[in-house]
Amino acid sequence: MSESMSESRIRDEIVRFARSLFERGLTPGSSGNISVRLEDGWIVTPTNASLGFLDPARLSRLDAAGRLVSGDAPTKEIPLHAALYDTRLRAGAIVHLHSTHAVAVSMLPEVDPADVLPPLTAYYVMRVGRTALLPYYRPGDPAVADAIRGLAGRYASVLLANHGPVVAGESLEAAVFATEELEETAKLHLLLRGLNPRLLSPGQLADLAAHFRLETPEKP
Ligand SMILES: [Zn+2]
Repeated sequence: MSESMSESRIRDEIVRFARSLFERGLTPGSSGNISVRLEDGWIVTPTNASLGFLDPARLSRLDAAGRLVSGDAPTKEIPLHAALYDTRLRAGAIVHLHSTHAVAVSMLPEVDPADVLPPLTAYYVMRVGRTALLPYYRPGDPAVADAIRGLAGRYASVLLANHGPVVAGESLEAAVFATEELEETAKLHLLLRGLNPRLLSPGQLADLAAHFRLETPEKP
């Protein structure tokens, strides 16, 4: 019984965070999806559902093999989530949005696919670290899973070109907060583009890494 109680808390938490993201304009229409890993499967947001108007009882409950156990049909972006969970064993939740500034950055010609955004703020470095860019895939294309597996779990934060960010966290709260930092940093990057902003220095980055024991992926 206690397991189902905690599952109901997780459902409520997904609905609360999803509504907050939607109401702040971080993912439009029925775009974006959220998943939380359980011991024996996942709870994910349904396909064609607006993150602003989710019903906790209709979230998709999947078993460990990814089969639908209850609720509405799951998001078609399941392959994306599954690939990130498979390669990030400590990931407890994943947030995928179509957030404007991150999508905009994904289309800039000068972006480094191994490190999409510069270290503008401490919170980006602490909560996100580095973001990888993957090429464009049609939404729901299972080939995106192979591309994510190709990153071998080195990145918790991945940006899909012309589409949006996918961010894993140890908890749902951590995944949401990291996605918000990614979006804010993308916004700052666009505001400062061409203005030669002062980035965090190597010494400041080393201080953050040591003080907060960060596991930022190395650039290849
Ligand atoms: Zn999407």
